[in-house]
Amino acid sequence: MEHATKSLKSLIAFSTGILGRLNIDFVDEEFCRQWTLKTFHPSGPVCPFCGLRIIDNGFVEKFYRAISVKCPHCGKWFRATTGTFLEGSHLSFRQVVVMLLLIEANQPTEAISQLIRADNETVRRWKRRIKTEQKQKQQFKGAIQ
Ligand SMILES: [Zn+2]
Repeated sequence: MEHATKSLKSLIAFSTGILGRLNIDFVDEEFCRQWTLKTFHPSGPVCPFCGLRIIDNGFVEKFYRAISVKCPHCGKWFRATTGTFLEGSHLSFRQVVVMLLLIEANQPTEAISQLIRADNETVRRWKRRIKTEQKQKQQFKGAIQ
């Protein structure tokens, strides 16, 4: 019985404030990249300029590694992040995934920036983008009703 109480205490000690102790080392960059890009492109790469669906294995591999690829049809260069909210972002995939998780958990900007090793302004900018998109979505819903 006493043993159970001790282990309960250590579980509480371990889990108290665990969200504030989380950082980007808890997640794998490769996994976050694959997961994010497969979410963006569940049925494989499509050229954002001419719409060509590309099935060449080498191309697909580069595409899901977020490397620039050249469309064999229209000749334009693009990445798996082209046309997504990640276009132009300088954050790593794991920084983005952990940041979005912590934003959704309503963590303060300063805590998030420390945990993902980015500056406060970067996190503020992402929070503003999310708010703006949420407002636009609500206005769009209101317009339909
Ligand atoms: Zn193309």
